[in-house]
Amino acid sequence: MEIIIEIEDESQRSQIETELKLFGSLFTKIFPNLYVTSMVVPLDFSAQVNILLGTTNYIDKRGYVTALARYVERDGNYSIVFSPKLFEKYDDTRTRFFLYFHELTHVWNGKCLSKIDENGKNSYYLHQLDVMYDEYVADRTSYLITDALADEGSLFVTTDKWVKYIYQVISDFGNLVFTSEQRDFIQSEVDLYRSHGDISLFSKRTRYVQSSIMIFSVHAFATFHHYPQIAKEIPFNDWYFVNKNTIALMDYLEEKYSSNATELDDGIELIRNYIKNFGIDRLDGEHFYAVDL
Ligand SMILES: [Zn+2]
Repeated sequence: MEIIIEIEDESQRSQIETELKLFGSLFTKIFPNLYVTSMVVPLDFSAQVNILLGTTNYIDKRGYVTALARYVERDGNYSIVFSPKLFEKYDDTRTRFFLYFHELTHVWNGKCLSKIDENGKNSYYLHQLDVMYDEYVADRTSYLITDALADEGSLFVTTDKWVKYIYQVISDFGNLVFTSEQRDFIQSEVDLYRSHGDISLFSKRTRYVQSSIMIFSVHAFATFHHYPQIAKEIPFNDWYFVNKNTIALMDYLEEKYSSNATELDDGIELIRNYIKNFGIDRLDGEHFYAVDL
């Protein structure tokens, strides 16, 4: 595996290299069948991802979500790109290893989860379900591995930054949905839709709020499920976008993760009900409709 680090400071560069080599030797023991061709820490994260993807429009910030790592598959070769932001003062070895294993699990999922028929009747719902499950499995797997490594104590231990990181995951979600702002925004777009009738305009305008809340919800619930004591401390049941449809879907993701499932065909009704939280329903398998929240 090739390690490419473009960070200019030489001592920081060699520290990063040592850390990534350690990560490489650990993951080959844990995922012996997973081969990663290269790991890259570029100066410009988005530009590097674009080069590897052969695109020009990838940006690391979408809606409220900022990506810190991204894997790219090309002709069966896997590269993982890490943002230089990961090596700033907010993170430490403990938090970075969580992210390393999180991203590696995405690579694993990319190989193992069943592919969606893009032209199938339920492809929209299956795609949304797939994105959420991929994040959920990546979080749960990485929590499991890095907690075990920290418990061994030989490589890294739990740090204050780690504890802060976990609570940050939940407060990022809380900040987005604690007040009714996002809900009111979507309801106002539903009202506008009723006059303009253009569902693709509605979807375009609400897409980033929807995808951000979906991803942040998965991160928060994966954390609640892995650390149930934290769930007891946080009154998330009062938050907007956390209702019986949310809980049912998150319980489903946990159940699928626990049984190493690779197919999600039986989750269509659950994801359909959950996505009604964002003003969208698909009644006949073909057309979308905006619905009141
Ligand atoms: Zn992820």
